Amino acid sequence: MRYLTYKSGEGNRLGSLQKGYILDVARVAGFGDMLELIKAGPEVWARVAVELQAVNIEELTKKGEAIPYQEQLLVAPLSHPPKNIICLGRNYDREYYKNAEEKIAARGEVDKPPEFPVYFSKPATTIVGPFDPIPLDPQITRQLDWEAELGVIIGVGGRRIRHEQAMQHVFGYTVLNDLTARDLQFRHGQWFKGKGLDASCPMGPVIVTPDELPAPLHIPIRLRLNGVIKQDGNTGQLIFDIPTIIADLSQTMTLEPGDIISTGTPDGMGHFRKPPEYLQVGDLMETEIEGIGLLRNKIMLDTAGG
Ligand code: MG
Repeated sequence: MRYLTYKSGEGNRLGSLQKGYILDVARVAGFGDMLELIKAGPEVWARVAVELQAVNIEELTKKGEAIPYQEQLLVAPLSHPPKNIICLGRNYDREYYKNAEEKIAARGEVDKPPEFPVYFSKPATTIVGPFDPIPLDPQITRQLDWEAELGVIIGVGGRRIRHEQAMQHVFGYTVLNDLTARDLQFRHGQWFKGKGLDASCPMGPVIVTPDELPAPLHIPIRLRLNGVIKQDGNTGQLIFDIPTIIADLSQTMTLEPGDIISTGTPDGMGHFRKPPEYLQVGDLMETEIEGIGLLRNKIMLDTAGG
């Protein structure tokens, strides 16, 4: 299934995307909110999926319970997770990690692949819709950077989840961009400030359930800036894969239905290019994962900071 959240005259509603139409899930199967559906658990997800797949879209359209898909109706699929978005840093197998020891000896570089997962978080106030503008205030940051990422939505919570059972705890997958103000990230010595800017996490356009994307996920992930590919990776390059992350996190922290895990970004971020590149007002950024979808965000001037 492909679930989304869309704007209607009655506020934001849970929809399912089927054959180019958005179906009103509340009308068909009784759930009006993404988190409410996630919390209902696997037996209910299965029933809802059967009910949604059985509908006659033509009839629903006549009753106003299905509408043609339009990007401008979409908001972030899940905007109020129970925790901050849990993010991984340095979680892709990078070219510059190859023979790291030799490179360190030869050139004094210190970056090596991490031995243990690197975690940080982004507050929920970073979340914006898949096609929303991203505000950029040049007085706040001159180094806003992109990070295309696969988001994993936890469906069944738990503590000390075993690696071999971890995938049973996944509700679905989405596309995220972990936008980062590099100057703030490094100036403050801890990543929370530079990765916590309002509207620095476009998300969506949909949450795809695992029946449509069987594990392990080996799918292309890309970022295009003004039509030029800047990141071109594959989710199969994760250093710590999804079951490893779920098992490791839940060793010490209870995972809850609706928790969002952003799994890290592949090579090609702006800050680490030579010369470095950063997002500018007017840029068009597209973040795409094949089989899930695409985020399209324009960078807009924000002078609210004065
Ligand atoms: Mg990141």
